[in-house]
Amino acid sequence: MNDLKFEDLIDIMKDYSKEEIEQVTKAYKYADTFHSGQLRQSGEPYIIHPLNVCYTLAEMHADSDTLCAALLHDVIEDTPATYEDIEEEFNPVVAKLVDGVTKISNIDFSSKMDRNYANTRKIINGLTEDVRIIIIKLSDKLHNMKTLQFKSPEKQKEKSIETMEIFAPLAYCIGAYRIKCELEDLAFMYLKPEEYNSIKDKKESVVDKSDNLLKEMLVTIHNILNDRNIPNEIKFKTKNIYGIYKKLNEGNKLPDIHDLLALRVMVENINDCYQTLGVIHSKYRPLNTKFKDYIYNPKSNMYRSLHTTVFGEEDRLIQARIRTFEMDAIASYGLSAYWYYNKNQATEKMQDDLKTKWKSYDAFMEIKNDFDDNEEFVTRVKNEVFSSKVYVYTPRGDMIELPKGATVVDFAYKIHTDVGNTMVSAVVNDEVVPIGYELKNNDIVRIITDDLSYGSREGWINNAHTSYAKRKIKEFKKK
Ligand code: MN
Repeated sequence: MNDLKFEDLIDIMKDYSKEEIEQVTKAYKYADTFHSGQLRQSGEPYIIHPLNVCYTLAEMHADSDTLCAALLHDVIEDTPATYEDIEEEFNPVVAKLVDGVTKISNIDFSSKMDRNYANTRKIINGLTEDVRIIIIKLSDKLHNMKTLQFKSPEKQKEKSIETMEIFAPLAYCIGAYRIKCELEDLAFMYLKPEEYNSIKDKKESVVDKSDNLLKEMLVTIHNILNDRNIPNEIKFKTKNIYGIYKKLNEGNKLPDIHDLLALRVMVENINDCYQTLGVIHSKYRPLNTKFKDYIYNPKSNMYRSLHTTVFGEEDRLIQARIRTFEMDAIASYGLSAYWYYNKNQATEKMQDDLKTKWKSYDAFMEIKNDFDDNEEFVTRVKNEVFSSKVYVYTPRGDMIELPKGATVVDFAYKIHTDVGNTMVSAVVNDEVVPIGYELKNNDIVRIITDDLSYGSREGWINNAHTSYAKRKIKEFKKK
C-alpha cells in the first residue's frame, strides 16, 4: 500500500459515526501540518507512515481514539507538538496513547546496554497499562518492516532481529496472529533471504499442485454441512513461510508439515463445531495422532479451535481447523477482535480479558514482581513468555501449556502448589523419569505425591524452568 491516500482511509470507515470520522480527519490534518516538510527515507512525505499505521488499525475496526493516536503517534517525538497540545486539541485518552507509543519507540534492542533492557521492560509494562498502546506499536512496526528496503543492510538486520525477538512474540501474546505471521515473514526475508526464497518457491509449488484437490474437498464439506442445515463458511489457508522454516529446522520434511495446507471451517456455535468434525471424519480418514481440541483446552493466548488432519482427496494430508466465527476473529486478531464484535465495551473488555483470561499476563506479572534487574527480566520474558510452547497432558486428558524447556517440576507446580510440594517422583508416558526431565509435546505426565514427603528439595530450583516454580520452591524452603 504505497500510494495510500487519506480518502482510502475514509473509504474503509463505513461503520464509523460522523463524529468519529470528523475526529480522525482533524487528527490527519494536525499530523500532516506538523510533519510537513519531513520526508521518509523512501523520499515520500512523512505523513504516509502514520496514515498507513492508522489504515491497518481501521481495518481492525479500532476505536477513533486509537485511530487518532495512530495518526499522531510520531508528533511528540519528531515535531514541536507536546503532550499537553494533544490533550487540549483532542482528549486525554489520545494524548495518553500517543505518549505510550512515544515512550516505547526508537529502542535499540540490538545493543546490550541496560538502557535497552529498561526500554524493553517499558514496552512489556505498556501491556498492563493499555493494550491499545501495544497494538498501535505493532502496526507501526508492521509498516516500518514493510518499508525496510530503504534502510541500510545493518539497520535491516538489526530491526529484523528486534522484530523476531520482541514484536512477533508480543503480537502472539495478545493473539494478534495475522500481524505476528506478517512480521515474522518480513523479518525472516531480511535475516535469511536464501532460505526465505527457497521455501517460498517450494510452498507455491505445493499450493499449485493441491489447489484443485482442496477446492474439491472444500465444496464437498460445504455441501454436506448445508444439507444438514449447519451454516458455514470455509476458507483455504497456508502456513506462513517462517512457520514452515521452523518446522523444517526441527527435522521435518516438507510433506510432513500437515498444516502447510489447511481448511478453515467456520460455523455458528460449539455444537456445530463437533458436528462438523464428525462430518469431516466420516468422509475423510483422520490421522489419529494429530487431533487437538483447543476448544476444550484453549491456548494461553485464548486461541480456540479443533484441529484434525485427514487424508483428503488422493490421500493428500490436509489439516482442517474447525471453529466458531467468534473464535475465528480471536484467532486472527486476538484481543483486538473486540473491536469487531463488542465495539462499545471493547477497551474495558480487552484490558479485562488480558488480566483474567490471557495466561501470559500472569507469567509477565510473576516475572515483573520477581526481578528488579532489567536484563534478567527481559531474559526471563524471552524464555518463558515469548518462547515456543510445549503442550502436555494430565492423566485425565487436560492439556497443560508450558514454555519450551519446562520440566516435570514446572508441570507439578502448574497443577497446584501442593502437588509440587509433595511430589516424590514423576511418570511420563508410563515410565519413571528424572525430576529434570524436559517435557515434550503430547507427553502424558503423572506426578506421584506423598503427603508425608518433606517437601520440595532445594536442588529442584535448578530443575525448574519457570519463575513461578522457582518462587514456589523458595517460599516452601522459607517455611
Ligand atoms: Mn512510527
